[in-house]
Amino acid sequence: MSEPPYGPPDASVAPRYTGVKTFARCPNIAEPAGVDVGFVGIPFDTATTFRPGARFGPEGIRAASQLLRPYHPPLDVNVFDGRSIADLGDLAVTPGNAARTADQIADQLGAIVSAGVVPIVLGGDHSVVLGELRAHAARHGPLALVLLDAHADTWDHYYGERYFHGTPFRRAVEEGLLQPDRSVLGGMRGSLYAPSDLQDARDMGFDLITGPEMHALGPDGWATRVRERVGDAPAYLSFDIDFLDPAYAPGTGTPEVGGASTADAQRLLRAVAGMSFVGFDVVEVAPAYDGPGQQTALAAANIAYEMLALTALAG
Ligand code: MN
Ligand code: MN
Repeated sequence: MSEPPYGPPDASVAPRYTGVKTFARCPNIAEPAGVDVGFVGIPFDTATTFRPGARFGPEGIRAASQLLRPYHPPLDVNVFDGRSIADLGDLAVTPGNAARTADQIADQLGAIVSAGVVPIVLGGDHSVVLGELRAHAARHGPLALVLLDAHADTWDHYYGERYFHGTPFRRAVEEGLLQPDRSVLGGMRGSLYAPSDLQDARDMGFDLITGPEMHALGPDGWATRVRERVGDAPAYLSFDIDFLDPAYAPGTGTPEVGGASTADAQRLLRAVAGMSFVGFDVVEVAPAYDGPGQQTALAAANIAYEMLALTALAG
């Protein structure tokens, strides 16, 4: 049996393709005691508006994470050293009921957050972030959101439903979970229904950087804007895999062309090294639409790895 501190087995003894598929081969632990950073799957996808399938995102990302190694060269850090890191398994959800699922996520993730764990969530469609933000805000107060996404996800409703993967951040503002004046939404692109789709987010107080503007800013420009905007507020980082171009991440629910490369995303996340985040997620991975090399799941696994490196370097 594994005991804290938790970490992956030595790959020179247990080859990386062996074992039950947990994130980065970390042990699957049921209780959060003795865990510093925990990977948590939320296999829920019935709040999607186009392609379903992100319920299988957690298992796809876990399978693609097997070849991750401990040492991160650009940030010069061993992401496991001196810490206890486990895969806490999947949360219980209710297929077809996003509102009830948000309550379930808030309860279950709340227990994990209360135990002092920094969770890195593997989605699931983006509706799951509402329950996550409730859990974090209950412990830390209203949060600064750092979002990388092709979409702002600040719509009011879709087909009359208020709990959808395009509405979580509006619900979060209504519930007082976010500080929009400390938050930065980046990467929005693609066709819209109307200019108000993005203007509404700005009117709510968010700083919104479109995809073309992100490209012009570059990683350092974006990171400077994020650091200044977030300040000392408790920060939450959410990464919708559709931030990447579908050439790099075809396996997702609502792809938009003209996005970032996987390498662009790595540079962005490395540029905020030293910042402290109370939690993370990488969402909207739908393996059924992935390529034969599972490049979307592989990208998501490596995005989660960058998040793990950020926790190692948090100031
Ligand atoms: Mn999204
Ligand atoms: Mn999106």
